[in-house]
Amino acid sequence: MITLVRRIPELKKKIKQARQRRKVIGFVPTMGAFHEGHLSLMRRARRETDFLVISIFVNPLQFDPKEDLQRYPRQLKQDIALAKTAGVDLIFYPTARQMYPTGQETVLDIPSLTDHLCGRSRPTHFPGVLTVVNKLFNLVEPDISYFGQKDYQQALLIKKMAVDLNMNLKIKICPIVRERDGLALSSRNRYLSPSQRRTAPCLYRALCQARQLIKKGERSIPQIIRKMRSIINAEKKTRIDYLNIVNPSTLTDLKRITRRPVLIALAVYVGRTRLIDNILI
Ligand code: AMP
Repeated sequence: MITLVRRIPELKKKIKQARQRRKVIGFVPTMGAFHEGHLSLMRRARRETDFLVISIFVNPLQFDPKEDLQRYPRQLKQDIALAKTAGVDLIFYPTARQMYPTGQETVLDIPSLTDHLCGRSRPTHFPGVLTVVNKLFNLVEPDISYFGQKDYQQALLIKKMAVDLNMNLKIKICPIVRERDGLALSSRNRYLSPSQRRTAPCLYRALCQARQLIKKGERSIPQIIRKMRSIINAEKKTRIDYLNIVNPSTLTDLKRITRRPVLIALAVYVGRTRLIDNILI
């Protein structure tokens, strides 16, 4: 049976009961609008833990006023049905008032890691993510929490936060789930028009091109980036936000490929929709 909980006291009660029964608690935080990417995290958590909690919260703190908070897809009924199929025990679905009753003065940041890639164009995004994930960890007290590599920078930040704040939990990163044509699944893909949807796999094509070039021995990063850019710029209605080849631990730019792995990460606007993707090579 799946339980839907909206209020914090009720959540704490359920968590306490699970703890008393010595259950290992797994946790998957989400913003809802589930697709196979979310479900892959839940299924893995189901296999590896005893009591599986997920959260659905479109966190206002991580959206800039100009971003898509209002428009972000919400589909609770369908999400509950999908969560059931993945064997979720409890869905925490708080209101913004539950999470931020008196405003949120305490905000977390890891400037050395947020000042790269997505953090450059979305400066308030990661402090919002770190703060809400920290709050959710305090409420759910998971033993293991699961995140997708799709949001590589987010996962790296959360791992670092857990270490820096001596959190008593494990963070596990799960592989990117893709459509058949390579497009990484995302709740925002539904914003794409049919023609934009046909364009969108160019992100993954560019990543594959980079992998091919490196495999063939190309070591110059400007060369690789130039070829990737030309694949994306050849498509109508695309605009590259960033495209970087970086050290996967520090997210700093590299000039040549001298060590492995490297992280290739990009964000591209297709029409008005901002898509992200990455690979580790
Ligand atoms: P979101 O609802 O977008 O905040 O995502 C919730 C979790 O699902 C995050 O840890 C994401 O990284 C993960 N996720 C989103 N899309 C994918 C995907 N295509 N493959 C794997 N994990 C994903």
